[in-house]
Amino acid sequence: MVKGRFGEFGGRYVPETLVPALQELESAYKRLSRDAEFKSTLRRYNTQFGGRPTPLYHAQRLTEHAGGARIYLKREDLVHGGAHKFNNVMGQALLAKMMGKRRVIAETGAGQHGVATAIAGAALGLDTEVYMGRKDTERQRLNLIRMELLGAKVHTVDSGSRTLKDAINEALRDWVANVRDTYYLLGSAVGPHPYPTIVRDFQSIIGREIRSQILAAEGKLPDLIVACVGGGSNAIGAFAPFIRNTEVGLLGAQAGGLGIESGKHSAPLLAGEAGVLHGARSMLLQDSDGQVLETTSISAGLDYPSVGPQHSYLKASGRARYVAVTDAQAMEGFRLLSRLEGIIPALESAHAVYAALEEARKMPASSSVVVNLSGRGDKDVETAAAYMEGRR
Ligand SMILES: *Cc1c(COP(=O)(O)O)cnc(C)c1O
Repeated sequence: MVKGRFGEFGGRYVPETLVPALQELESAYKRLSRDAEFKSTLRRYNTQFGGRPTPLYHAQRLTEHAGGARIYLKREDLVHGGAHKFNNVMGQALLAKMMGKRRVIAETGAGQHGVATAIAGAALGLDTEVYMGRKDTERQRLNLIRMELLGAKVHTVDSGSRTLKDAINEALRDWVANVRDTYYLLGSAVGPHPYPTIVRDFQSIIGREIRSQILAAEGKLPDLIVACVGGGSNAIGAFAPFIRNTEVGLLGAQAGGLGIESGKHSAPLLAGEAGVLHGARSMLLQDSDGQVLETTSISAGLDYPSVGPQHSYLKASGRARYVAVTDAQAMEGFRLLSRLEGIIPALESAHAVYAALEEARKMPASSSVVVNLSGRGDKDVETAAAYMEGRR
């Protein structure tokens, strides 16, 4: 397979000015990912700062409710910062530091990736600057405050639609101008090579822990692993260590929004076509002229018109399956996990919970399903309450 490609997907579709920076990143990652000091330092941050390993929890009441396979929850909601994003951000921030960069930049939509970057930046003493669309700073004020409390500088972006894609454009402009001392910290398994590979590798700690924990609990590998897929980082982290174990089913839950047939969703793997966005070829929601379409989802973290290239490949090759879970179905997963297990999940993760319940009920009691619970739901309680009261 060509370097940085997953079948026909992936690659490096960027302006020439960025190629040297991506090459520098690629060779630094190659070197440092095998470096004993890098590995032991990251391990220390993951355990003592991040709280890893996270538990694999047997959800007994959810299992009873579904009436089929035993359901386990991989508790990424318990990682420092409240989501799996820490795994990637800590790895990349340490990479930046050991590459000799003093400044880290990132873009953020809902603010979750910005907050995670600010956490890692503070811990490593890096200057952290985050680009965020003005619309998003207004919608997600709490995360704006969090980033500032953590010492990050937030640049409010007033161009275009004043949301994530405009923030990405501004961050890229900054990177081109300051590439010598600046590291661009990407938030999901997307973008040009080598980012999808780097992000997957740092998130694969999830799948490696699942493997040893499920073997201890069940004495065999799980029959199915379920994760939500926005950019696809938590899912690829859970899936990657099992790709060769073809007896383990892999299921990704994309945001079905108001339903695929309504056209208002964020499910490029179900309703997109191959195209190029943000430096990589992948499945993409686009019109017949190739213009990127608007997306809809109750969860900000799944609201992205494309997806990590490796997921497009896993779908095309048949190794993984993907389903669309609507806003209403995700809210059902959210309500059930809260009431039955005492865990309020992130709305993103609630998509995976719903998809897992649908599968588990069709499977025998001797089988097991692992749901990657990517984050906690504190950030979503207002949205959930508004939805339940019919205000959205
Ligand atoms: C950001 C986020 C996601 C979506 O990102 P992926 O890269 O698809 O994992 C999912 N869950 C939570 C809790 C998030 O914060």
